Amino acid sequence: MATPNAPFVPPGTGWPEDPAAPDTPVARGPREALELAEKAPDLDELCARQSVCRACPRLVAWREKVAVERRRAFAGEEYWGRPVPGWGDPEPSILIVGLAPAAHGGNRTGRIFTGDRSGDWLFASLHRVGLAAQATSVYAGDGQRLIGARVAATVRCAPPDNKPTPDERAACLPWLAAEVAQVTPSVRCVVCLGGIAWQGVWPALKQAGYDLPRPRPKFGHGAEILLPALPSSERSDPVLMLGCYHPSQQNTFTGRVTEAMLDGIFERARDYGR
Ligand code: SF4
Repeated sequence: MATPNAPFVPPGTGWPEDPAAPDTPVARGPREALELAEKAPDLDELCARQSVCRACPRLVAWREKVAVERRRAFAGEEYWGRPVPGWGDPEPSILIVGLAPAAHGGNRTGRIFTGDRSGDWLFASLHRVGLAAQATSVYAGDGQRLIGARVAATVRCAPPDNKPTPDERAACLPWLAAEVAQVTPSVRCVVCLGGIAWQGVWPALKQAGYDLPRPRPKFGHGAEILLPALPSSERSDPVLMLGCYHPSQQNTFTGRVTEAMLDGIFERARDYGR
């Protein structure tokens, strides 16, 4: 009898780049996600905890259903089937924030923006401007490496139709906020891929000690805002927030996003972050 497809990779069983261990604590609701995120002692443990979270029942069910059913092209591959943690340089000068992993991309490979068309565009651009070691990101353990950059998502689990609910976005915010707080000592620029990331990163930056403008500036490709550190925070340098259209298939197919447009944003981020 054929072995049934597994709904997820058990933590600490040898998957490349798996940050978790079998005893990594699991959040089973939003309150636990908040507590575990806030109390994570360092970035490694934070990512480990992100990668085993089960706080959102609808998203857990969806990500595991996708992992069991699989797309025909990947039928012979094991799927990650877990939240996709932040990935890249642990002391980045540039933090790139997206919406959520793709069902057959990050949810399959375990690395954000890896194994899908959006990631192909993103990593090719990062490589052209010197922020990624390779032009492609195909699977965890493929040798890809970010240089002075890190990628994270506002929601860590693949959502149906790429649409997390407001409650799911709120439940996942502590993971992003804790990650932003862990990396902001080195971060000089935050690139938001799409309007939802733009909105989702504001509360995380506020918690990390930055002063937010009122009203919030609108998202747009090339939108920029310099956020000063709050006098009460331990920060001193401001952080530059940059808007970038998401390299989704819809945007790249229609020409709303071009290679030159992506390169322009990441060149700006790279030059500012130096
Ligand atoms: S979306 Fe975020 S909070 Fe919800 S289960 Fe996934 S990792 Fe946990």
